[in-house]
Amino acid sequence: MAKGNIGVTSDNIFPIIKKFLYSDHEIFLRELVSNAVDATQKLKTLAAVGEFKGELGDLTVRVSVDKAKGTLTISDRGIGMTAEEIEKYINQIAFSGAEEFVEKYKNDAQAIIGHFGLGFYSSFMVSKQVEIFTQSHKEDTTAQHWACDGSPEFSLEDTIKADRGTDIVLHIDDENQDFLEESKIQELLTKYCKFLPIEIAFGKKKEWKDGKNVETDQDNIINNPNPAWTRKPADLTDEDYANFYRELNPMGEDPLFHIHLNVDYPFNLTGILYFPKIKNNIDMQRNKIQLYCNQVYVTDHVENIVPEYLTLLHGVIDSPDIPLNVSRSYLQSDGNVKKISSHITKKVADKLADIFKADRPNFEEKWDNLKIFIQYGMLSDEKFYERAEKFALLKNVDSKYFTFEEYKSLVGENQKDKNGDVIYLYANNLDEQFTYIEHAKEKGYDVLLMDGQLDVHVVSQLEQKFEKTRFVRVDSDVIDKIIQKEDAAKVALTDAQRDALVTVFDSQIPAIEKTNFIVTFEQLSPSANPVFITQNEFMRRMKEMSALQGGMMSFYGEMPDSYNLVVNTAHPVIEKLLSEEEAACGTAIAPYADEIALAESKKATLKDNHKGKKDEEIPSAEKAQVEELEKQIAELTDNKKAVLKSFATDNKQVRQLIDLALLANNMLKGEALAKFVKRSVELL
Ligand code: ADP
Repeated sequence: MAKGNIGVTSDNIFPIIKKFLYSDHEIFLRELVSNAVDATQKLKTLAAVGEFKGELGDLTVRVSVDKAKGTLTISDRGIGMTAEEIEKYINQIAFSGAEEFVEKYKNDAQAIIGHFGLGFYSSFMVSKQVEIFTQSHKEDTTAQHWACDGSPEFSLEDTIKADRGTDIVLHIDDENQDFLEESKIQELLTKYCKFLPIEIAFGKKKEWKDGKNVETDQDNIINNPNPAWTRKPADLTDEDYANFYRELNPMGEDPLFHIHLNVDYPFNLTGILYFPKIKNNIDMQRNKIQLYCNQVYVTDHVENIVPEYLTLLHGVIDSPDIPLNVSRSYLQSDGNVKKISSHITKKVADKLADIFKADRPNFEEKWDNLKIFIQYGMLSDEKFYERAEKFALLKNVDSKYFTFEEYKSLVGENQKDKNGDVIYLYANNLDEQFTYIEHAKEKGYDVLLMDGQLDVHVVSQLEQKFEKTRFVRVDSDVIDKIIQKEDAAKVALTDAQRDALVTVFDSQIPAIEKTNFIVTFEQLSPSANPVFITQNEFMRRMKEMSALQGGMMSFYGEMPDSYNLVVNTAHPVIEKLLSEEEAACGTAIAPYADEIALAESKKATLKDNHKGKKDEEIPSAEKAQVEELEKQIAELTDNKKAVLKSFATDNKQVRQLIDLALLANNMLKGEALAKFVKRSVELL
């Protein structure tokens, strides 16, 4: 029996492996099963080229646990190793500067394993002893038994092994006993080996029989050796793609589209990406794309390989050019990886463009589900925007879809205002904004529906992209003011009439939490509503942005919602209200108005005298006089307001007009709504 030292320049690599690789130690199983698969494939290749003439027989790789013995065994019927090969491939781990490197990457087990080609040695992360029993496929060779207990010392001796191939036997150490649990191994095999190209059996299939779970004589195969992405797109049906999706996402709903990636220059990449159906935010899961290297699972963190917005897709990417064992930071700077990312972007855009061109009804039907991805891409990637602007859609309130170009020709002239700006009208709630949408339609305008999660941002983006274009929500003003065709008619009210109407309406606006109303006037058509409510576009957007972003913007978020209560002074009801007010309050108000005017003029004279004088030059008697006048004016104004308020309270119409406006805006609720109904009946 030969004894020797493993060829490591550093005295002992094993403590390093154990210490630094601890966090990721489960990958040892991937390494060993991959080796077994490699050895098997090599044999198949040799057989194919006629160099191996024996029987291939059953090539299944078998993983088994023996709890009593404390061992985990990985067996293959691949090429096996001769004594010389063990010496060369197992005993000589050639590397230099080991300690330095390990120190640098101590938190990145993958990098260390990759660097040293320590695949096989990762077994020492979980074992107190490792044995190899191997019989080479070569004729006239003797089976070998290699053993090592984790020191640099190993033993190598001839042995007898009936079968061709290699058994790797791990004697699991005390800290890692969980790797002797069947469920644990099943889980790891499913995670790392699910699509390896050679069948892998873990024990036998179990069956429920006579109230017991009993083993059948069928192998429990844990992998699919021919996953869809390794096959040619031409050989696959839609059903195959759907089935593969189910294999990846057993619980998932059927996806919208798939994209089969197949590149061989300037790098190798295959894979299938799916656009999932997203019903709510909970479905927006990342880490649903798995990265493989020649069918060996690497990671489901693909942030650096796939553009951010595409990490919402599901599927598989397989590239031998993305090194299996590399650190994340390495991925970010790798040129190949960058190319892969931009290639995927292009592929995805091309595929969407194809579907759009070939089958627009299908594309439109899926748009509501698709748009989150496309909009996300357009918002975050200029290149993607440029490709997507040809197929991205806008949907109107009647569920008609338009490309950007089509919509522009639809509204470009018709919705141009007097300054030459094209106004894109939109709604985000069909029920709440019904009246406003109707008003816009009556004018012959079109209204978009922008009710998606990203539409707030999309609106801002499109405003920047499109020339002389503004997006305005239908309820942000009177339609004739949103798209102002000519100068608005002047409101024909005196200051006194304005003051009176403001007081009358103000006094009857119900208190709604965190909501302000400002009474404004418009001279609209007599057939337009007498009173309605609008919300300023700018303020509303600021609030929406703040809800999405927080931070600096939260200043806007804290502000109450501010609405305009717009009074149409041309409406007969308002004209009537005004004359009723004048008839009812005119005589009572007149003396106050006269006295206010008198006090105001006295104050003005005094103030005129004080012009240009410094504060200390003004006699204190005069200062007191001004103060006294101001007090007087305030009191008189209050008295005047009291008269108007009592008129408003007695006049059921005022409250009725306000309530109608609130109702049209879906803001009349609860008790206020009940009162409104009651009052309406009374008015009848
Ligand atoms: P890598 O697989 O990256 O080359 P490993 O340390 O995992 O590094 O393996 C070293 C070498 O040992 C392999 O390249 C292969 O030649 C040999 N080897 C490992 N496992 C087996 C096996 N099950 N059958 C045959 N040869 C093997």
